[in-house]
Amino acid sequence: MHNPGSVKQGSSQHCDVNVIGGGLGGKAVSIHLAKAGFKVICIEPAASVEQSVGESLDWSAPGLLSALGLPMEQLVRSQTATWKRHVTVKMRDGFSVRYGPSQWLGQKPFHIELRTLHVDRLKLDQELLDLTCEQGVKLVHDKVAAVERDRNRVCALVTADGSRFASPWFIDASGIGSSVFGREFQVPAVYSGPPKVALWKYFPVDEVVEGTTIYVDPSPSKYLEWVWEIPIQTKVVSVGYILTGAAIKAMRADGLTVEEIFRRQLTKFSRFENLLQTGGRGKLKVTSFRCRAYSKAAGSNWMMVGEAVSMVDPITSNGVTAALRHAGEAATMIQKFASDGALPCREQALYSARILSMANFFNGGIEKIVYEPPVRNRIGLARSGTIYTGPAWSVNAVYARLKPEGLFSTTLLGLLLGAFRASAWTFYQFCKMTPTTLSSDLT
Ligand SMILES: Cc1cc2nc3c(=O)[nH]c(=O)nc-3n(C[C@H](O)[C@H](O)[C@H](O)COP(=O)(O)OP(=O)(O)OC[C@H]3O[C@@H](n4cnc5c(N)ncnc54)[C@H](O)[C@@H]3O)c2cc1C
Repeated sequence: MHNPGSVKQGSSQHCDVNVIGGGLGGKAVSIHLAKAGFKVICIEPAASVEQSVGESLDWSAPGLLSALGLPMEQLVRSQTATWKRHVTVKMRDGFSVRYGPSQWLGQKPFHIELRTLHVDRLKLDQELLDLTCEQGVKLVHDKVAAVERDRNRVCALVTADGSRFASPWFIDASGIGSSVFGREFQVPAVYSGPPKVALWKYFPVDEVVEGTTIYVDPSPSKYLEWVWEIPIQTKVVSVGYILTGAAIKAMRADGLTVEEIFRRQLTKFSRFENLLQTGGRGKLKVTSFRCRAYSKAAGSNWMMVGEAVSMVDPITSNGVTAALRHAGEAATMIQKFASDGALPCREQALYSARILSMANFFNGGIEKIVYEPPVRNRIGLARSGTIYTGPAWSVNAVYARLKPEGLFSTTLLGLLLGAFRASAWTFYQFCKMTPTTLSSDLT
């Protein structure tokens, strides 16, 4: 990470808020808090910004980036982003279906923004890092190794080099791999779907596509695997393959390398014939994850944001939105309760409820309606996509307008999400009990 603060090994530091992790969520919360006048220290082990996933944004993300000082037009102008106007699902047999918000949503009285973005994460994360530095956040290049606490209250963080960081407030933005506070407080997690693996690479292309494309070859008896194509620059696409951990393990046991597994899947789709011949840029990247959300996201003087608290399935394009939302809400809560020195139990519970109910809505919905076979076998993948995307877009639009914060709005949101989840569950059970063979016009 550039411009790291000078912290002597084994020293003791004090500030208003310590943030664990300088990924997207950590940088976003640091910027919000520093803008509000807090002295912030952000502790991040990576020495420089690396190319991350999280490249296809949902329709609510641009407003959240704009609140940080990065409006859409500026991001496109600086070639950090490209326009995303739709999502297209393409099947191996050539059938394709396009999803996007209806034009009437952009008109009176809704005025919903119909455009969103694909982002080059290397550039976006660098722009966020520049903003973080401009706002005077102290960046420390180290790793949090231990948490000092008094029951539900965090007192200090101790880093790998033995430095101690004390403050009245703490934010955990350490991502899915660490979740420092989730582990420290042994918070129970709600898991969705099986463990999954993503393999991805970047390819140069000639033509410009203003949308994300998802390639699928669904099997009526198997959990869905998919390939993404995201134009992160006008002439560069990110191509990734998501499959279950069990599926990749079986192929590896058959002697296939991860490169061969990736190529084998891509060769199913004619689009990738030429791209594969170019070989792509750099090495194939691999990551594994499992969707989950912690049931508690905050304590007396701490909060978790981003993937540290909830991992939303990548096919929903909601991870970046969730991380930016958590960051904004956590910063607002610290501003509101800074003088009290503690978050009231009610605020802790409401923040946790919003995060858990949103993650469960997206993860539960996509698992039942798209990934698992019963619903898509009965009504076809194209209609499953419509059934999923309608409520998903509506919920995000409602969240952006409602800005739930207090008891009333959080309860209203919970009821809406609960109704959608109950409908999805009932329909899934119905499809499971009355399976049918898919007719060709329903693919
Ligand atoms: C395969 C895949 C595809 C995805 N695609 C999309 C997509 O298309 N659209 C979308 O919106 N979202 C997507 N996401 C989700 C998105 O990438 C994340 O939600 C987003 O990047 C937010 O990340 P974060 O800041 O919470 O965590 P991270 O980016 O993981 O940041 C966590 C940071 O904490 C640091 N850290 C870890 N441990 C410690 C420690 N002990 N001390 C200090 N620092 C520590 C790490 O070094 C890291 O920099 C995808 C995710 C995956 C896995």
